[in-house]
Amino acid sequence: MLTLLFAAPNWSDYEGPLTRSLAQAGIAARFAGDDTDPAEVDYIIYAPGSPLQDFTPFTRAKAVLSLWAGVERIVGNATLTQPLCRMVDQGLAEGMVEWVTGHVLRHHLGLDAQLAAQDGVWRPELTPPLARDRQVTVLGLGELGAACAQALAQLNFAVTGWSRSPKSLPGITCVSGAEGLRQALSTAGILVTLLPNTPDTSNLLNAETLALLPRGAVILNPGRGTLIDDDALLAALDSGQVGQATLDVFRTEPLPAGHPYWAHPRVTVTPHIAAATRPGSAAAVVVENIRRGEAGLPFLYLVDRTRGY
Ligand code: NAP
Repeated sequence: MLTLLFAAPNWSDYEGPLTRSLAQAGIAARFAGDDTDPAEVDYIIYAPGSPLQDFTPFTRAKAVLSLWAGVERIVGNATLTQPLCRMVDQGLAEGMVEWVTGHVLRHHLGLDAQLAAQDGVWRPELTPPLARDRQVTVLGLGELGAACAQALAQLNFAVTGWSRSPKSLPGITCVSGAEGLRQALSTAGILVTLLPNTPDTSNLLNAETLALLPRGAVILNPGRGTLIDDDALLAALDSGQVGQATLDVFRTEPLPAGHPYWAHPRVTVTPHIAAATRPGSAAAVVVENIRRGEAGLPFLYLVDRTRGY
């Protein structure tokens, strides 16, 4: 009988899905309570918001299984010596594809202007271009970035994607490195940022890089708030260098009520909802990794601690 610690805020959402997935996989397990000896715990299911910070007493734990795709709040924890696996799940990818394509299409089609123009004036000048004539750049071609880039390419957008290592994806212009970033930004009518929060990606969008965008470009950030220098983005919005921004993630969440993003006429704030972890499918991912650990197979979705993602 395995002992699992659920170190995440929403036990009531996960109890049923985890119990069912464990039963389906034929894994006998119990969930640790307050009186469980940490040295008896075999696996830790983790999400930010858990009070668990010191992993030292969990001497038997074979892995920490994150319910979040982004692991910046745990990856640098010096007490964590066990393998760390992040969440990769079809539900996350589908949610992100829907959020990104929805907001790209909103800006591409000029839906805001259409909705505001119900005043009896016939405006054929609001005819949007075809997607094939709109350049979209996706920064990050991982599980989520690649899924979004491919969905946008299927809608006929001219998609460029940027990643750390060189990639080849059908229908997408893939670039990497510093020169690749310049190229990717210089063509981006719409820019989507799906990079993790690491020291290398911090403030990647700053005054200098924002200036590389075509004037009036639209920015969608469902990645992490740290990717953007907020003051630089606000200045670029005010000068017209950036036309609009739709932001889902922020340095401080919830975004404080007085933050200038809330009131800015060309910013849309969404409350970190682009891609929520869905307990049903996420529980199956966690249990599959437990199954693999018990079968002596390599874990899926291992975080590279040196890269930070
Ligand atoms: P992933 O599979 O790890 O992919 C990350 C991508 O970013 C990879 O293509 C990677 O390049 C690239 N990258 C990382 N550091 C880079 C650098 N310094 N320069 C250039 N490219 C770099 O991650 P994912 O599952 O797609 O998730 C991406 C992020 O989305 C997460 O980290 C999280 O912050 C965010 N997220 C947000 C929500 C939401 O609701 N808003 C939900 C889930 C996730 P390589 O391919 O070369 O490694």
